[in-house]
Amino acid sequence: MISIDIEKKLKAYKGEQVLKIAAQFANGSITKIYGPSGAGKSTFLKIIAGLIDPEHGKISVDNLVWLDTATKVSLSPQKRKVGFVFQNYALFPNMTVQQHLEYVSDDAQWINQLLVIGKLETFTSHKPEYLSGGQQQRLAILRAIAIRPKLMLMDEPFSALDPKMKSELIPGLKSLWDELGTTVLIVSHNPQELEGLTASEMEINPM
Ligand code: ADP
Repeated sequence: MISIDIEKKLKAYKGEQVLKIAAQFANGSITKIYGPSGAGKSTFLKIIAGLIDPEHGKISVDNLVWLDTATKVSLSPQKRKVGFVFQNYALFPNMTVQQHLEYVSDDAQWINQLLVIGKLETFTSHKPEYLSGGQQQRLAILRAIAIRPKLMLMDEPFSALDPKMKSELIPGLKSLWDELGTTVLIVSHNPQELEGLTASEMEINPM
């Protein structure tokens, strides 16, 4: 169980805005997070990953406290070990597809399984600049899942995929998440983007 209760002042959205979220996510659950652009969806994921600290709040995962502003606890992103899919992919320009995955896992069989699910098995020697947007996005997803995360945070992860590719990829990801028992939070500003994925829903609105 992931318990979150946080408050963070956001800069520059129609003046002052506060991101205030109290939510709990069961282990192994999938949640779609909607909300308009600028509502703080990306910021929310980054707070969970430990990349941004909120002014107030607490995050605990099972019995472990990841963040508690009252006692000044904040585990580093490395210790939280979440799988993060960034909106801009954050790929390494000088690494091939294969090297991206080997960077986070030394299990060759697992890497091959991921490459098949992401339909990148014929692009293993390509660097990001020689991949399409959709291929780059799939690589970002595979890299995040390659670490076998207990928690996966995805920021607009299917925006560059055509409907057919998306409908083929999602069942593959779901079977991996089931196998790993991963809890998944998926952010989107466009509910249509996540059609076909059965999951709980949550909305973030500006306050
Ligand atoms: P969304 O993902 O819903 O489009 P974002 O989380 O990207 O929204 O941004 C929401 C607002 O938070 C923006 O106005 C942005 O300027 C602001 N913001 C982004 N990062 C930070 C930060 N580290 N601290 C405070 N405000 C931030």
